[in-house]
Amino acid sequence: MAKSFIALSLFILFNVANAALPGTWPAVDQPVAAVAAWSSLVDMSKVTKAPQLNQTTTCAQVSSFCRSPCGCNRPSDILNCPTKKDWGLSFDDGPSPYTSRLVDFLDSQKIKATFFVVGSRVYQFPEVLKKIYDSGHDIAVHTWSHTALTSLSNEQIIAEIKYTELAIQQAINVTTRTVRPPYGDCDDRVRDILGQLGYKIILWDRDASDFLANSNPNFNVNWIPGNFTQWIATDTGTTGHISLEHDLYQKTALAAESVVPVLQKAQYNIVPAATCTTPGATSTTSNTTTDAATSTPASISNDPQSGSSQSNAVSLDKSIASLFTTCLITVLLFYQTFL
Ligand SMILES: [Zn+2]
Repeated sequence: MAKSFIALSLFILFNVANAALPGTWPAVDQPVAAVAAWSSLVDMSKVTKAPQLNQTTTCAQVSSFCRSPCGCNRPSDILNCPTKKDWGLSFDDGPSPYTSRLVDFLDSQKIKATFFVVGSRVYQFPEVLKKIYDSGHDIAVHTWSHTALTSLSNEQIIAEIKYTELAIQQAINVTTRTVRPPYGDCDDRVRDILGQLGYKIILWDRDASDFLANSNPNFNVNWIPGNFTQWIATDTGTTGHISLEHDLYQKTALAAESVVPVLQKAQYNIVPAATCTTPGATSTTSNTTTDAATSTPASISNDPQSGSSQSNAVSLDKSIASLFTTCLITVLLFYQTFL
């Protein structure tokens, strides 16, 4: 009984410490609707007139507009690090409850990575994002809902990026101008929009396929470091690499602890994936040097400038309510357990 009491109390305290971002946000993991004020940031006459695809559209059905998962890339797509023996480390789809341990591990090894974060997860776990950022890692956008961008309208693509941008701004007060489209799915239409919004596209040339660990019961997590071992053994190219891993699931977040030693043993220079083209740079800039007016229209209720007092009030109310609830439950549990 006492153990249950402690476990439940810790669970409650964890949730209090990881309160979601205040304010009104779109539904998590759902494609967002267009926001007119943001749509006007892009000159649509300069966006390639490629069709909006179904998520089930196969590569065989798409022969033009250079869709990246179909074997076509433009020079603006960054797939690897330019310097041989540089290894760009990246983790997608977080932040999650499993990211914190991953950050602790990377910090213990004095390694920095790029985290491509999903806006819905930033909304849910802003304190985890803060831990990533405060530990010196690189932060980049991975859209609000993790929907294939070629399946969305121009206006929806913009809103997916800007809501994520806004969530990052509210959580850690920085702006990032680096993006990875979910599934690496982009074509010339998507590239034009992301380019006009000022974003650099980072893809990868080494996919750990670690996401299968969550969906395939026969997946052996040792295959993840095994992939790295195999890539290293056959690495005869003239460039470095960028690997894709995920911190959304426990098994994949833990896999980094077996992957990093493989790279270290082979004497690779491990760097954040998004910045290996410009050593020493980061994807983020402080909001003190960013024109928030151009990135956050006044019509958005979460505007960190115009709505700060309201957001803070909501946040404070939430914290007090959560603390009160925690105290109440703790007293009741104590009473039930020991009296
Ligand atoms: Zn992803």
